[in-house]
Amino acid sequence: MQNIMEKIKAKDPDQREFHQAVGEVVATVKPVLDAHPEYRFQKILERLVEPERVIIFRVPWLDDRGEPQINRGFRIQMNSAIGPYKGGLRFHPSVNLSILKFLAFEQVFKNALTSLPLGGGKGGADFDPKGKSDAEVMRFCQSFMVELFRHIGADTDVPAGDIGVGAREIGFLFGMYKRLRNEFTGVLTGKSLNWGGSLIRPEATGYGCVYFAAEMLATRNQTLQGKTCLVSGSGNVAQFTVEKLIALGAKPVTLSDSSGTIYDDAGITAEKLAFVKTLKNIRRGRIQEYAQAYPQAVYTPVDPAHLSNPLWAHPADCAFPCATQNEINVQDARHLVAGGVRLVAEGANMPTAPEAIDVLHDAGALFAPGKAANAGGVAVSGLEMSQNSMRLHWPREEVESRLQTIMKNIHKNCTAAAERYGAPGNYLVGANIAGFIKVVDAMLDQGLV
Ligand code: NDP
Repeated sequence: MQNIMEKIKAKDPDQREFHQAVGEVVATVKPVLDAHPEYRFQKILERLVEPERVIIFRVPWLDDRGEPQINRGFRIQMNSAIGPYKGGLRFHPSVNLSILKFLAFEQVFKNALTSLPLGGGKGGADFDPKGKSDAEVMRFCQSFMVELFRHIGADTDVPAGDIGVGAREIGFLFGMYKRLRNEFTGVLTGKSLNWGGSLIRPEATGYGCVYFAAEMLATRNQTLQGKTCLVSGSGNVAQFTVEKLIALGAKPVTLSDSSGTIYDDAGITAEKLAFVKTLKNIRRGRIQEYAQAYPQAVYTPVDPAHLSNPLWAHPADCAFPCATQNEINVQDARHLVAGGVRLVAEGANMPTAPEAIDVLHDAGALFAPGKAANAGGVAVSGLEMSQNSMRLHWPREEVESRLQTIMKNIHKNCTAAAERYGAPGNYLVGANIAGFIKVVDAMLDQGLV
């Protein structure tokens, strides 16, 4: 194991996030490798950490002043052992190979956990949609697709949204794909409802995360009713996490964006959430405006000199990090525990640093890794693909009930795998092992490819 980590660090020394994601999996699957000498003999870990294909391309576009702009586009086709590559596109200035490889690697296990036939991939660009006009975003998306279209397809690779890529961007990307290929096919998920999208897809990641948390609490004979919850982010995942928390009787009290956090002691209600949706999805404003609209809420701007995030220091029962990677460090985890938090469910991908997870486990808190807790999004993307293939449109109740069943099964499979390999109650171990076994068995069946 040590050897593998040394090799990937030597090969790509600057890919810190990728090392972190691989390190977390490698540390937990040792008992499986010990029980299956054929995995080691077949160099299965070495194969898993090497993407099947990495595509990097130039994305030139004209801004509103007529000035050329150049961004870098990526698609990581990580693993197709159990289905076509599937995973979101992220548009954010921080996007680089390390971040996309970590996300693609996580996606492989997450997709396996959904029990749907989905391989793993991820992509995006170092483009920042913030502050850009709709016309600029459209020109960027069109140029991005002019290259990406060669590499994707309904049976090859089916991207979706992620940070900075929502319904608007998926629309522009799909339009250009359709024009280039002259075909109307389910090549992207997260499409709008009236042209091939699935009901519940926008809600799926957040709702799924809350369903998963409810399953975890049930193991301790508890429910979300009356629980005070910290939620970070204010984008797609955060909004629908808050929506489902409210529906299940919990009291969400925080939200954030990259500029700062709000704390609303009175609780974020359905009416306040509607304000946030308009603010973020239509007006594309900053979360600070929440505190102007609801003056009892306190806004705290990000202070780069601060080594911890004040959002995690409020007293609460549960925490749902839904913004980005590594947003809970050791100090934050200590604050969470001191503030009474006994459940952390990751809506975002890898938001909790490894040492912070140790702090939570040591305190006896329930911890759900993103690859299990936020798998609802890709699961409903998989259901969108099924509906597109069948030319059918399932009703809301049907999709939501399938989502609920999938989240229950992921919980059950994680619990069973953790128990089987000697780590009862450890969802990190359970998720990694359950996803790992499914993927590597498929890889072995298909020979050395
Ligand atoms: P959105 O773009 O809709 O929202 C992202 C939110 O996180 C925004 O509030 C954004 O603030 C904040 N944010 C992003 N980067 C940073 C940063 N570096 N520091 C502080 N805040 C930041 O994205 P999603 O809600 O779709 O995604 C959130 C997380 O969930 C990501 O980790 C993503 O990979 C994961 N995820 C998403 C799925 C989906 O279906 N959408 C599925 C599974 C996981 P600001 O506007 O200021 O940038």
